[in-house]
Order: sequence, then C-alpha cells, then structure tokens
Amino acid sequence: MISLPYNSPEEEIHHPLFSEKNIRVYLKRDDLIHPFISGNKWRKLKYLLQKANLANKNHLVTFGGVWSNHLIATACAAAKSGLKSTGIVRGEPINTDSLALCRLFGMKLIFADRERYRDKQRLFNLYFQDDPDALFINEGGYSEEAAKGCAELVEELDQDYDHIFCACGTGATAAGIINGLRQQHSSSCLHAITVLKGDFLKDEIDRLLLAPSDFSFHSDYHFGGYAKTTPALINFIADFASHTGILIDPVYTGKMMFALFDIARKDLFLPGSKILAIHTGGLFGLLGMKDKF
Ligand SMILES: *Cc1c(COP(=O)(O)O)cnc(C)c1O
Repeated sequence: MISLPYNSPEEEIHHPLFSEKNIRVYLKRDDLIHPFISGNKWRKLKYLLQKANLANKNHLVTFGGVWSNHLIATACAAAKSGLKSTGIVRGEPINTDSLALCRLFGMKLIFADRERYRDKQRLFNLYFQDDPDALFINEGGYSEEAAKGCAELVEELDQDYDHIFCACGTGATAAGIINGLRQQHSSSCLHAITVLKGDFLKDEIDRLLLAPSDFSFHSDYHFGGYAKTTPALINFIADFASHTGILIDPVYTGKMMFALFDIARKDLFLPGSKILAIHTGGLFGLLGMKDKF
C-alpha cells in the first residue's frame, strides 16, 4: 500500500496586504506531496486504497471531468499499487493534457454524456456489475474514507491558526479537516470556499462530519461556477505567482486565495491573526486555461 512520503511543510507567504493588515498567512504545501497524486488527492485516496486492498478489489473505477485532478491521481495511485483503473469521463470523447496523463498511467477511459454521467452508480453497474474486482469510487473520491484521510492533515500542523482556508469541490476535504480539528480540540475556524455555484456543498460537508460542527461556508467566490473564471481572478493568480513564486490554479486554489485576500481587505480578520491556507495541489487545471495567461 502506498503511504504519504512526508508531512508537507507550512510555508509563510508574504504580500504587502498582509503587512498592511497585520496578519500572518501560511500555506500548507500539500501540492508538494506528489506531482500526480497531488495535494488533497493523496489524503483522499489513502483509505480508499486500503479498502480496495482489504476487499481484494484490484480495479479502481471512478469518475471525473476532462481536466479532473482526481482522475490523474487515481490513475497514478493505481499504477503504483499494482491495480487496474478505469475513469468514466463526463462529456464527449476528447483528449486533454490531463486525460493523456491518465492514459499514460494505464487508466482506461469511458466517456459518458452529461445526461448519462449524472447517475454514477448506474454507469458503474452497466459496465462493471459482473466484475468482482471492481471498486466504485465516487467522483472526486467523495467518501467517509476520503474525509478520514484529510483529517490527518490537522495532526501534522506545527502551530495553531485562527483561521484555516480550504477550496471545496465535493466537500470531503473540508469535512475531514473539520473532523480533524474537533479530534484535536482545536478552536481554529475552518473556511470552506465552494468553487461551484450554490449552497448545496454545505450539506455535502455536513454529511461527512463525525459530529455537528460550526464552520464558515463561503458561496460568493465561485466566479460564475465550476471551472469558470473572470479577468479579475486570472490577474489575481498572476499577481500571486509573481509575488510568491507559488502557482495556484483558476479552478480551486486561485478562488480560495482570492477569498482570503478579499476577506483581509474587508478587515474581517483581527489584527495579529494567523491564517493557514491549504494548497490542495492540482496544478494541471492550469494547463486547460494556459491561453488566459
Ligand atoms: C480535487 C480538488 C479540490 C476539491 O476537494 P474536495 O475534497 O472534493 O472538496 C480542491 N483543490 C484542488 C486543487 C483539487 O484538485
């Protein structure tokens, strides 16, 4: 079974805004965990791989879009673990840089149009009902196992933070961190930044909580919806990269950092606050939008 190679560092980042507002901002560099099983994806897959192992399933079947970081991570993790993998991909057949990586890692790809893609269990049954080796892994790895792996991030922290920021696609990572904070009796406030339009992710986070817990849910930073951007977001990402030497992407971490900066500008952090942002990795999303930079 694969295991996390090391604890990712917490790196302080500097920006004139942070000095002006007298706050300190750190990035948990989960993007450095692995180039392909990047960021939260390693944490999310850890216990799903253990589940596959215990159930003697040697074929991971999962779901994602044509730029899905989760598909790349699953393909690579399966290859490392000696397992087969299949990705059921939303949309018409197309090749993207991300899907090319999936294929390189030996993942078989099946395309399903948006209508069919909606019912994932049905698709799984359609293709793999008779395959006793196949393990269903939900889109983005959303599961109790994923949340359990993400909770472990909290045990690694070197210091206490007043606020922790995390981008949400399925909500499993945010839920795991909230569970971890509770287990560690931490009083840090978790800020979940949804990258999708609407409030439904709040319920998806709640569903994976081990006990009802408060957190701060921000639904104003989706920039039009999943994988949608605006010139302001693109400029922000370029400004951030040129000030820090760290890349963030327009789909997830760019929106999360934008939220952090916006909240700082509005003076909603007390002076002296310590803030941690989780760099959940997933930089291949940038390749899908390289023309914008
Ligand atoms: C997959 C992904 C997320 C979303 O994580 P969830 O657990 O699905 O909410 C966030 N950031 C990046 C970079 C990702 O690739």
